Amino acid sequence: MNATTNIDHPENSSEYSGLTVNAGVSQPPIVNPYLKPRKRKPLPTSGELVEGILKGDVTTLSRAVTLVESLAPDHQSLAREVIEKCLPHSGNSRRIGITGVPGAGKSTSIDVFGLHVLRQGGKLAVLAIDPSSERSKGSILGDKTRMEKLSQHPGAFIRPSPSAGSLGGVARKTRETIILCEAAGYNNVFIETVGVGQSETAVHSMADFFLLIQIAGAGDELQGIKRGIMEMADGIVINKADGDNVDRARLAQAQYRSALHLFPTPPSGWTPEVLTYSGYYELGIEEIWDMIDRYFKFVEANGYFERRRRQQARYWMYETIDSELRRRFYDDPARAARISQAERLVLSNRLSPFAAASQLLAD
Ligand code: GDP
Repeated sequence: MNATTNIDHPENSSEYSGLTVNAGVSQPPIVNPYLKPRKRKPLPTSGELVEGILKGDVTTLSRAVTLVESLAPDHQSLAREVIEKCLPHSGNSRRIGITGVPGAGKSTSIDVFGLHVLRQGGKLAVLAIDPSSERSKGSILGDKTRMEKLSQHPGAFIRPSPSAGSLGGVARKTRETIILCEAAGYNNVFIETVGVGQSETAVHSMADFFLLIQIAGAGDELQGIKRGIMEMADGIVINKADGDNVDRARLAQAQYRSALHLFPTPPSGWTPEVLTYSGYYELGIEEIWDMIDRYFKFVEANGYFERRRRQQARYWMYETIDSELRRRFYDDPARAARISQAERLVLSNRLSPFAAASQLLAD
């Protein structure tokens, strides 16, 4: 060892004979200097992604969905290219929106519905819209354990809701993901949402069929749901019709049926049906799917299927314009200062809100 003696150390004085204290060794850097900095994996080209997606490669599909969800501008422009190229290969699935309050049995039911659909052949993508979602923060595991059987099926692609954000933003990403899944050959798409707020409208804007899962309560079934949600439903299914609950579920079914009579006929011309089932015991599942099959035959024959898809495409065009205009308006840092100044004037009654808005918009 060629360590030098530490001359300054007190214990090296003649007082302590027989003891030498060597100079210390300098602390090595925490970061290994020989380690090459890890380069960010280069982005694939849109052509590579599209090729993988069209082949049905799940890894490529997941990667493309991650790009759709990313906020990085280079990811977003790549995602846009991929979506454009996938668009001609999309559209050929049954898009089924599924909603219900937490605890209604959505996960249990989707697991069972999904397996039922997959037994008929083809593939199934399960997507979600949940703007408040905390579980969406990368926790695919959460969704996989929620739909235990389905997640092990090779024909199922389960993707949690895009990360929490504005409802419009989250919904748009889900809508774009549908396009990618369809291009990858998924001929069934479930879009799940928690039935507690505005998300139903978003799901309605991208689904062909809207299924509302309800449970029988203590005789006041109709109180909790907003009229608007019932009006959107193409089918209402009352879950947990098992054991002691069968009679209550039947009663709820009768109540929903009579309530639906009061509604005007929906634009599809289809009268929503009300069924009871048990997701847990897998009872009545076939009947639900028969109803959905009947619906698709009905709206394909009367032209509503195509009309609704066209209306949805138009809705998304305007929705995207709206959000892009808003983003450009608010993201300009120079304007942000003017906005807060105008806000102060409005709050102190020195400027009317209308004058403030028109001044800001005219800038
Ligand atoms: P989600 O919050 O809507 O996804 O509901 P879950 O699927 O997690 O179900 C909530 C609870 O209801 C769980 O404890 C399920 O086991 C139970 N559950 C779901 N479906 C049924 C059913 O058909 N019958 C009965 N008795 N319980 C069910």
